[in-house]
Amino acid sequence: MDYRRGVVTAESVWRAIVLYGANSATYKFAFGATLLETAATGRTHVTLEELAPRYAELLCQALERQPRQNISGRSRFLDACRDFNAGDLDRDALYARTVRLGFANVIDAFPQLGGAPAPVRYYEDRRRHAVAPGLVLRDELLELARSVHAPALDVETAARWRLVETAWATGVAGAVLAPALVYDPGTQHLVLQTKQRRRSVTGVVAALNGYQDGRCAYCDRLMTQESTGSGPVVEHVLPWKLLTRSWAGPDVDAVWNLVLSCKPCNDAKRDRAPHETWMTWLEQRNNDLIESRHPLREVLMAQTGATVTVRHATLKRAYQQATELLPAVWTPPTSMHTAS
Ligand SMILES: [Zn+2]
Repeated sequence: MDYRRGVVTAESVWRAIVLYGANSATYKFAFGATLLETAATGRTHVTLEELAPRYAELLCQALERQPRQNISGRSRFLDACRDFNAGDLDRDALYARTVRLGFANVIDAFPQLGGAPAPVRYYEDRRRHAVAPGLVLRDELLELARSVHAPALDVETAARWRLVETAWATGVAGAVLAPALVYDPGTQHLVLQTKQRRRSVTGVVAALNGYQDGRCAYCDRLMTQESTGSGPVVEHVLPWKLLTRSWAGPDVDAVWNLVLSCKPCNDAKRDRAPHETWMTWLEQRNNDLIESRHPLREVLMAQTGATVTVRHATLKRAYQQATELLPAVWTPPTSMHTAS
């Protein structure tokens, strides 16, 4: 992630806030999505009464998907959302409770990163002002909401939200016997694998995009229609073709080995591994995912190792094995990644 490499921009800090950190509740996903949507309309001031309908709607929808939306399981605000879903609370009462209870922590917590104020501020909190109480939306937020990054941020937020709530509901992130969260190559989704069935949790593009800042893993260009002629493509770093050889390394059809690239790079790379110098990029991406407390953290650690050192060795060994079976390698068009 850019932010973890010291790059401070409106989008890198946003991603660090939304896609990083231990989650104890999903309010920040709903709040972030509501803020971006509101800012996209160009408004510079918004009251809690105006934010409440969309914010509550997102959490009501989430509760219908997955009854658990925070770790403690207790929340008077979420209870109000549940009552609304059950038909025991009308819309006006839901909004009134949202204004009173729903924003209690999230407005203070959202602009924090690792216990300190984030280096980019998206709004000013004027809830307690006598004149025009509410939030003043700053230019940083208004520009972000209108930027080429906005659609991706929205999708990434939704993906992390699905993964977090699924992890809580299933214990996927903790217990050894938890059902596996696996990559399904057919649909390019992350699916929850239980004895009985497979259920899609989210698309792998949405789940991975933010951790590479929406840019191609190989050439570093933004993966947008304007920039590279296509959206992100799911790319096997060590080629999928290994599965047709006597491959004895870790499963290449798994998250540790999947990155997003632009189509031109995907076309150029074909069935080759990237040059060895590029592999530090993958190592960092996997470390970023793990350190972001991502719900895939346990999956990645099970696949490649519990510590940075072990993961480095695993990747190195897999690379050697892969290039013994398929010796041709491809040099990505930039060496920008190999620094840092
Ligand atoms: Zn590319």
